[in-house]
Amino acid sequence: MNNPHNIYIHVPFCISKCNYCAFFSSAIAPDWESYAKGICSEIDFWANKLGCISVPTVFFGGGTPSLMPISVFESIIKHLHSKFDLSQCTEITLESNPGTLTNEKLADFVSGGVTRLSVGIQSFDDDELKFLGRRHDAKTALSLLESAQKFDIRLSGDFIYGLPGHNVKNIISLCDKINKIGLKHASLYELTIEQNTPFGRMNLDMPSNDEMADMYLAIADNLQIPRYEVSNYAFPGYECRHNQNIWDGDAYIGLGNGAKGRIFMKNSWFEQSGGDIQYSALSDSERATERIITGLRTTRGVTLDNTVKNLVDIDFVNAHNDLVNIKNNRLITTDSGILVLDDLLTNLIR
Ligand code: SF4
Repeated sequence: MNNPHNIYIHVPFCISKCNYCAFFSSAIAPDWESYAKGICSEIDFWANKLGCISVPTVFFGGGTPSLMPISVFESIIKHLHSKFDLSQCTEITLESNPGTLTNEKLADFVSGGVTRLSVGIQSFDDDELKFLGRRHDAKTALSLLESAQKFDIRLSGDFIYGLPGHNVKNIISLCDKINKIGLKHASLYELTIEQNTPFGRMNLDMPSNDEMADMYLAIADNLQIPRYEVSNYAFPGYECRHNQNIWDGDAYIGLGNGAKGRIFMKNSWFEQSGGDIQYSALSDSERATERIITGLRTTRGVTLDNTVKNLVDIDFVNAHNDLVNIKNNRLITTDSGILVLDDLLTNLIR
């Protein structure tokens, strides 16, 4: 039997493009039936290669997966069950955007297997939402959260901070609202300006690096939810299991255009992409480097096994315990280390 693989399914369709968005997504409505057929044939391909592997988690990411007709979602889930072993699957996440999910449709997703809903809220300020190019307003976002809280699912909200003009006061106000709503998981991402986006073509007056760092620190001081990854916060037990598995270095298959995976077969690692299905070998040290990079973004850190040890400059660790240290055979970044993570990784990995 091959190793368990988590499954990421990309749903790269949105109602329109947001002003900051550099993700692989299209604002053109798809032929959903062909989309489902494509995903099912990718499932067949990997089932032929890997056999009836166990699937610990499934994640429908986007794009806007909540736009998916329920029949499409059900046909993909049914196909997964027919080819893989989902008896140990503990999480099926659906990413969603406010305004695309009625109470009835959410009920259908939940009865079809969704156990976790991630909502792209981004801001509680209507002017900011307009500026970001989002299609919803704060009231619609709050109403989706309120409906979702009535279901027996885990709930997360995505937020963006560091907009032009933002300062620590904005962060305190955002954190207060998240605390008040009672979310148990939240992702707070710093706005980054990517070329080839509407924001990339504007000359935006962005906060300085120091201002961004102050805002990041203000999240830790004001959000009641503990951080478990650079941008992710959860009360114990409410972490995203799918992402946590991937950050820990577990195998996962990416299905659909724009999806990426890491396959483990015949004792070797492969990087893989979905859509037209491509995969190529990764050396043990390339894979270990990836594990160090993702692991050090989390508060769990990365296991110091031999491949990791071979890549890490232990003298650097011993000399910089204020940034990174070793606990229970795991290499863990400190709160100060997280603030300089890119530089830290450059110095740490040989
Ligand atoms: S909803 Fe997300 S994926 Fe879609 S355009 Fe906006 S940022 Fe991009």
